[in-house]
Amino acid sequence: SKVKGAGGGYCLYKRDMSHLLTRKLELVQRLECALAEGNLHLYYQPKVELYAGMMVGAEALLRWQDPVLGWVSPAEFIPVAEGRGLMPQIGEWVLKTACQHIKSWKSKGLNCRGKIAVNVSAQQFGDPYFLERVARVLEETGVLPSNIELELTESCLMDDPERMSEIMKSLRGMGFSIAIDDFGTGYSSLAYLKRFPIDTLKIDQTFVKNMLDDNNDKAIISTILAIAKQMGLMTVAEGVETEEQRCALQKLGCVLAQGYYFCRPEPMDDFTEKRLKAVCLLPKNSNAKQPAM
Ligand code: C2E
Ligand code: MG
Ligand code: MG
Ligand code: MG
Repeated sequence: SKVKGAGGGYCLYKRDMSHLLTRKLELVQRLECALAEGNLHLYYQPKVELYAGMMVGAEALLRWQDPVLGWVSPAEFIPVAEGRGLMPQIGEWVLKTACQHIKSWKSKGLNCRGKIAVNVSAQQFGDPYFLERVARVLEETGVLPSNIELELTESCLMDDPERMSEIMKSLRGMGFSIAIDDFGTGYSSLAYLKRFPIDTLKIDQTFVKNMLDDNNDKAIISTILAIAKQMGLMTVAEGVETEEQRCALQKLGCVLAQGYYFCRPEPMDDFTEKRLKAVCLLPKNSNAKQPAM
């Protein structure tokens, strides 16, 4: 519609498009050096028992600080990395770095009180060398897979379900746990819950965000909780930001959660100092049972 008329609108449109293209080219170029230049980092966000605020594990989240572009969100750069076929390599770096961190915590006598969750992208999971890369990281770092939960999205499973199911079985056989991330937002059928070896469902944050105002979102959450319970799967509610959400989730029988209400993702050093040494993450004004001191 902007094309019509006296050029101004059209030019604006063209400028907007070329701006987007420039940004994408820049991201691609910078991302290709990010690994080599050491500009990727892992942050950690605690996973907690929402009725008591105790930390029971954490999720590793990728961060990229580029000298030219500044901080770039993974929501922006991961799709770009996938487009360039960079995710198998970046994903291997993520797993290796998480394993190195786990090793360093253990060597300091710190207990991360549960598993460290590591995200795996669809392209990374579909990479024919994925299992080899995983095995190599385990061999290089000597970390046991029982320390790690791999988070897959529904899109990881759609391409070739038979093959994906075999890979998941191999990972399970090695000792990894498997979570489905952003559960409820993908296009897969519920039938895959019985076909694939899964330990945990992570309830997508969009449902939590609206659950207090929208009964449909609340109904979706309680249905996911019911299915998970029946099938013996764990559940984690993502994106808990308020006491009201925490409380509503607790009433629905949800046990585990992540979210800014408890703790934002933190750099490795902060996480090590503050979280691995003092584990109750409930704000003072919470109605939840505070653990006895
Ligand atoms: P995700 O795995 O579903 O991670 C949860 C995202 O929600 C994270 O965003 C986290 O910072 C954010 N979050 C946590 N609590 C709250 C909250 O209370 N409110 C809100 N609004 N957000 C919250 P982040 O770190 O920007 O990552 C976005 C997505 O990028 C991740 O979603 C994941 O899909 C992807 N990602 C991040 N790190 C990696 C990685 O190492 N590998 C792969 N393959 N993907 C990653
Ligand atoms: Mg995740
Ligand atoms: Mg998620
Ligand atoms: Mg997400």
